Amino acid sequence: MTEGEAGNRVPDADDGDAEADRGTTAAAAGPLPTDIDIEAVQEALISWYEADHRDYPWRRTEDPYEILVSEVMSQQTQLDRVREAWGAFTDRWPTVQDLAATDRSEVVGFWTTHSLGYNNRAKYLHEAANQVVDDYGGEFPDTPDELSELMGVGPYTANAVASFAFNNGNAVVDTNVKRVCYRAFDVKDSDSAFEGAAQRLMPDGESRIWNNAIMELGGVACGKTPRCDEAGCPWREWCHAYQTGDFTAPDVPTQPSFEGSRRQFRGRIVRVLSTHDEMSLDILGHRIRVDYTPDGDYGREWLRELLSDLADDGLVEVEGSGDETVTRLG
Ligand code: SF4
Repeated sequence: MTEGEAGNRVPDADDGDAEADRGTTAAAAGPLPTDIDIEAVQEALISWYEADHRDYPWRRTEDPYEILVSEVMSQQTQLDRVREAWGAFTDRWPTVQDLAATDRSEVVGFWTTHSLGYNNRAKYLHEAANQVVDDYGGEFPDTPDELSELMGVGPYTANAVASFAFNNGNAVVDTNVKRVCYRAFDVKDSDSAFEGAAQRLMPDGESRIWNNAIMELGGVACGKTPRCDEAGCPWREWCHAYQTGDFTAPDVPTQPSFEGSRRQFRGRIVRVLSTHDEMSLDILGHRIRVDYTPDGDYGREWLRELLSDLADDGLVEVEGSGDETVTRLG
């Protein structure tokens, strides 16, 4: 299990209070490096997400009731357990009207049986269902502000429901998203900087896919121990951490252990090539390590192997052979 899988959304803090609804949502444009091509960054992440992602049933629905249930359940519970509980819950109470009509003790009993954490969450969920039925005629409101009027629904969950059900949310800023922004774009460690960066990164009107995609990135690629190459991270060519080898993050204060030098050298190659149109093999070798010797252990053969991995991932192009080999960013 990778970091970020303990819950669908990874909160900033977890004090067990159902109202202490995790994370924040972004509201302003903000502090990203000026030289990045935001559209290319957006397209890369969305394509990566569309090509493959963890398949959770609540990612296949746009029903706000089902999404709210998944959000409330995943605040404290591992996703695999949520999957089972969510299926059982939505079978037993398929609509918000069904939930509102049931006795609260039944909902609390379900919560306990499925080890879903604080029972207050079950009570608030039941109360929220009653509000939707009584105050909104059974139709969920579709804005984060209105959704946060529901019992137990704070700004984070309201934004998640607005995004995933109505494609009408702001950029999510949870611990995973902060870590990704910090590493990839060297965003300052402050809430306002993260919020600004996250909102700037999100394509307008695309909160559904974007928030899913960036959280997936934080969950499966950019966890506490990053899996940049293994997960085929789509942001390697822009990523500050990948290029400098410094993978610390606000919630990972010391350098995490990772497979190490290979990844660091791959990052260095991308960084060096990003400032040159093209480069010959040996010049590149000398730029990325002081002990490079063309025929040594860390020589052409070693470098070609790294370049070949990077070429397989579409990050670089290699042309020619022997002394004539040149390489450039792909
Ligand atoms: S390249 Fe690595 S460190 Fe950078 S965003 Fe991707 S997974 Fe995170």
